[in-house]
Amino acid sequence: REELATLLSEEVGDRAGDWDLAGAIPLETLRRLGGEGVLCAEVPAEFGGRGLSGLDNGELTAHAGTLCSSLRSVMTSQGMAAWTIQRFGTREQRSKELAALTRGDLAAVAFSEPQAGSDLSAIATTVVDDGDSVVLNGHKVWSTASAYADVLVVFGRYQDGAAAVLVPTRAPGVTVRPIPQPLGCRAAGHADVLLEDVRLPATRVLSGASVALGLLTTIALTYGRLSVAWGCVGIIRACLGAAASHARDREQFGKPLAEHQLVARHLAEMYVAEQTATRLCEHASGCWDSRSAELSSASVLAKHAAAGHAAHTASAAVQILASAGSVDGGTVARAYRDAKLMQIIEGSEEICQLILAERALERVT
Ligand code: FAD
Repeated sequence: REELATLLSEEVGDRAGDWDLAGAIPLETLRRLGGEGVLCAEVPAEFGGRGLSGLDNGELTAHAGTLCSSLRSVMTSQGMAAWTIQRFGTREQRSKELAALTRGDLAAVAFSEPQAGSDLSAIATTVVDDGDSVVLNGHKVWSTASAYADVLVVFGRYQDGAAAVLVPTRAPGVTVRPIPQPLGCRAAGHADVLLEDVRLPATRVLSGASVALGLLTTIALTYGRLSVAWGCVGIIRACLGAAASHARDREQFGKPLAEHQLVARHLAEMYVAEQTATRLCEHASGCWDSRSAELSSASVLAKHAAAGHAAHTASAAVQILASAGSVDGGTVARAYRDAKLMQIIEGSEEICQLILAERALERVT
């Protein structure tokens, strides 16, 4: 893990702000990181991956989050795509497709549609058998990293259930439309995707059979929630670091900002946020590694809490840096915009709360 973290630090350097302003990460950087297996580091060694545990992959993801949330978002997409292939692919599909993703091919996942946001049961994209082929039609929105991707994991209706289909972005009928100037994670390659009579070999359907839509999306999203949660830990750490050093070095009214109690209180709350989010992520990754039945709710809890802490911490960091933090592309200004989006994706605040409320009710005897 240390070696991969060093590689990430070297590749990002001090360029995250420039990528944010430009709205893009250089493709060669992503391919290099992908080719080293950093972007989906949990893929087992037998498929060419680094075989990291959930916990180690989580800490690596947090490290990416401290450096650049756009890059971390690309990592989440690649990891989610790899996990979906690993979980639902046949042996042959896993061998071929996971090897491609650890050689530098880039992937994105496409669940959301204009009428299917929080409610993924409304997915309308169709996957229809036609001899040895399948034909896809649909409209996907806000697919992170799809502007860079070689392949999309598309979720659609198939036979009497659903399927995830590996769709090459260069296939005839696929149109990828990058979303201009998103609020945050501006270099994450968000795009809408049109699928118009996209004909592919039937072997592109993961597992080759239909599965229940809810099962398919929940399993893929669990990886995404854990990854986003750890990414939020990274945002919190970056903000805490920037705020603490500024509060120590900058003086007003004859003493460092940190010695003004109202500023110190912000720092204390940021520290609590970092510790709380980290512990919840460690617990959820522990559930992942031990295949605990608690995993699904632990990942929702970690994501919900970490995203809330990231949004509050980023806001407090801008407050402490004040004018020094109000520069577009700077660490805390970026974090402020990026963190808000973490409260929307992989289950919004409200959707997470609904799931957690069910968990609370289960405890009533
Ligand atoms: P809506 O579902 O319309 O919700 C609007 C508001 O209503 C929200 O506050 C929501 O919490 C609330 N709400 C909805 N239903 C309920 C309810 N039952 N009870 C209470 N409140 C409710 N999608 C992908 O497929 N792949 C990606 O890689 C991807 N990346 C994304 C990256 C970013 C930066 C963003 C912004 C979005 C991304 N998405 C992606 C889409 C994302 O998953 C959806 O935006 C998210 O699920 C919310 O859907 P929506 O935006 O349509 O909001």
